[in-house]
Amino acid sequence: MKLDLLAIAAHPDDVELTCGGTLLKAAEQGYKTGILDLTAGEMGTRGTPETRLKESAKAARILRVAHRENLRLPDAHLEVTKDTKLAVARRIRDLQPHTVILPYWEGRHPDHYTAARLGYEGCFLAGLKQLPIEGEAFRPFKILYSTVYFRDVRPTFVVDISRHYNRRYEAILAYHSQFSPKAKDKKSKVDIPLDRLHHEVNLIARYYGQMAGVEYAEPFLVKEVMQVEDVVKLPVRSV
Ligand SMILES: [Zn+2]
Repeated sequence: MKLDLLAIAAHPDDVELTCGGTLLKAAEQGYKTGILDLTAGEMGTRGTPETRLKESAKAARILRVAHRENLRLPDAHLEVTKDTKLAVARRIRDLQPHTVILPYWEGRHPDHYTAARLGYEGCFLAGLKQLPIEGEAFRPFKILYSTVYFRDVRPTFVVDISRHYNRRYEAILAYHSQFSPKAKDKKSKVDIPLDRLHHEVNLIARYYGQMAGVEYAEPFLVKEVMQVEDVVKLPVRSV
């Protein structure tokens, strides 16, 4: 498999919440996209790992990704070890993504920033010929960091997902076990968790959209400088 774009994240539903619109947009532009979830989220309060895997497969169909898989590393105990780095490197060699999306390298949940480091080191190692794993040496060309979970940082660029916002929201809702109200909440007339989800997802996408003068957007950061070919056709109005 040769992917154009691969998103790597710690938990099922992280990708939907951080860069689902970008993946969907890329798929509709004709690119082959994929998702590599590192854990099945078994430490989560709601939903069994099996339920979450089923939900993530449904979300993948909605986002039109060509490939999704779960490495089943330990949730809440994600660690950068030789074994976990090689596990990621194996998948990189197999999937050969040109561009990789990782979570931002700081954050509240340790799994999120650990996934950033694990993803980066896996991408790097995959390119070493002498690495003791099967497959041909391969290194992705570009790494983008999704900054949605760490809003203190200013993104390098945003992707306009205005036309993909509703479908991405559908993909988020595929995770019934995470977002439906619990049984005891059903008496309440207001569906608080879903209400809050809708509000927050909307607010965040609008916030980044407003930065670029579009309705909804997703933010990314790159460590390298951005290079421009045509300064006359740059988007985002200045004055
Ligand atoms: Zn997460």
